[in-house]
Amino acid sequence: MAAVLLDGRATAAKLLEEVKADAARFAQEQGRRARLAIVLVGEDPASQVYVRRITRSCGEAGLEAAAFPLPATSTAAEVIGQITALNAAPEVDGILLQLPLPPGLPTDQIVSAINPEKDVDGVTPTQAGRLLLGQPALLPNTPAGGMALLEAYAIPLAGAEAVVVGRSAIVGKPLALLLLAAHATVTICHTRTRDLGSVTRRADILAVAAGRAGLVTGAMIKPGAVVLDFGVNSTPNGIVGDVEAESAREVAGYLTPVPGGTGPMTTVMLLRNTLTAARLRLAG
Ligand code: NAP
Repeated sequence: MAAVLLDGRATAAKLLEEVKADAARFAQEQGRRARLAIVLVGEDPASQVYVRRITRSCGEAGLEAAAFPLPATSTAAEVIGQITALNAAPEVDGILLQLPLPPGLPTDQIVSAINPEKDVDGVTPTQAGRLLLGQPALLPNTPAGGMALLEAYAIPLAGAEAVVVGRSAIVGKPLALLLLAAHATVTICHTRTRDLGSVTRRADILAVAAGRAGLVTGAMIKPGAVVLDFGVNSTPNGIVGDVEAESAREVAGYLTPVPGGTGPMTTVMLLRNTLTAARLRLAG
């Protein structure tokens, strides 16, 4: 039987209605809209598309977005200078630093310059540490979106065998921590994992964030498993995920389409985080 598609577009649209209502309440309480600042270093076309999409979504939801583009030749001091100015700006509620940065820039140092209270993608050591310790945190949007999608489809997680392929700071690791917090038994795979298929075939919940088109095939999936595909890979046939959709569809119980699965959830989580950050900061 073909897998049920986990419809990220429809789920995100529903969540966006809640965000819109909350953004309107915020604007009424504060006499201004919540504001997101997006720092974009360099001219990476995919990042530019993403920034335009975020800006449009903010507008639709009743938040303000302002982009702060910097040339790819910027020094670390220049990027940190921009972030420091946004940290100090009282009307800026959230700062999104578009990653990856151009090669040569010290990502850790630059990320650490973001005021954790405005860190709406959960990338600073403070927010990442809170997530690790199980404290309330501003969560990274992509894994938070994946969790929200599982919740929307009432997928049971407690006691489930979860396998995450990928250990990046922005997707794989935080997702593994969120699944752990939801009482799943979690395994994290990466490029040194021996026999990836033997691990992924154990998974009731399989999340793939490797950035490798078609890495996971149907033969690597346990029949009936819930498969979250975070991959966004540009191919001559268009955008595809990390999971080979055709073969996976025949085996999985649930599967996120690419596009239209985890991607739209990321954006709506970012808007929600911006409102959360704004409220927390203003409450002091
Ligand atoms: P990343 O920083 O490149 O990390 C990729 C991870 O996958 C690494 O941990 C790597 O292992 C692992 N990996 C790569 N090839 C592998 C293989 N053959 N077998 C096992 N593990 C392998 O990427 P990322 O930023 O996490 O992004 C992952 C994917 O998600 C990309 O396609 C990206 O475009 C997409 N993404 C989607 C969204 C969304 O909203 N849906 C948001 C962000 C990113 P090592 O650590 O051993 O190198």
